[in-house]
Amino acid sequence: MWIILVRKTSRSSDRMEKLVLFDIDGTLIPSLSMGVTTRVLKKYFGVEKHSKIYSEGKTHRQILFERLKEIGISDPERDPQFEEAMAYYGTAFREATEGISIAQIPNVELFIKGLLAEGIFIGILTGSTEDTAKLKLEKAGLQKYFKFGAYGDKIMDRNKLVPIALEEAKKSTGIDFQKENVFVVGDTVRDIWCATAGGVRSIAVSTGKETFEELKKEKPDYLFKDFSDVKAIITKIRAG
Ligand SMILES: [Mg+2]
Repeated sequence: MWIILVRKTSRSSDRMEKLVLFDIDGTLIPSLSMGVTTRVLKKYFGVEKHSKIYSEGKTHRQILFERLKEIGISDPERDPQFEEAMAYYGTAFREATEGISIAQIPNVELFIKGLLAEGIFIGILTGSTEDTAKLKLEKAGLQKYFKFGAYGDKIMDRNKLVPIALEEAKKSTGIDFQKENVFVVGDTVRDIWCATAGGVRSIAVSTGKETFEELKKEKPDYLFKDFSDVKAIITKIRAG
């Protein structure tokens, strides 16, 4: 008797697995204004001018792009210095935070441990460059929990980061996560937009610079003031 094996696109067990993708600034650590882009601009473009551009939730690539547009560079990504300047973010961050330790957002480590205890996978989804992200997490004592992530080195638009995070999650875990089981946790409206654009769920927390009311207007799937009730958030993730 012949048996024909049909390869399914994902294992049935993959359909059950949950994944939580964490923003960094304002979510895992306080939203820092360390003047990193200012350092990058000074070194590569000789610019010291301060900017009023709102940067919360944007990728480092978008932030640098907008700052260069602001000083009159019409096509920043084609500037010969642009990629080198992007690659310098990690070093600039290291220099800016020399001797400074970085705090964790209260209770967030407890939340991470709670997720892992439930067998829920976690990853990073941030606008920071990869080097910068890892330094931030290391300084806050959180890098040990994260094995993969999507970062803001190559991607201008944060809304495009979910598919990259899912690809990285698959490479790292072998699991083809289903979008309804994936959650983006973040402190800005851009985290909510990014989750919506990526077809996954959003968990907004007002632990950064944007208020509970500002986040509420963007209709996240779940909204919390902070991580004070870790059990309640995990219950939503398990049920959602
Ligand atoms: Mg943030």
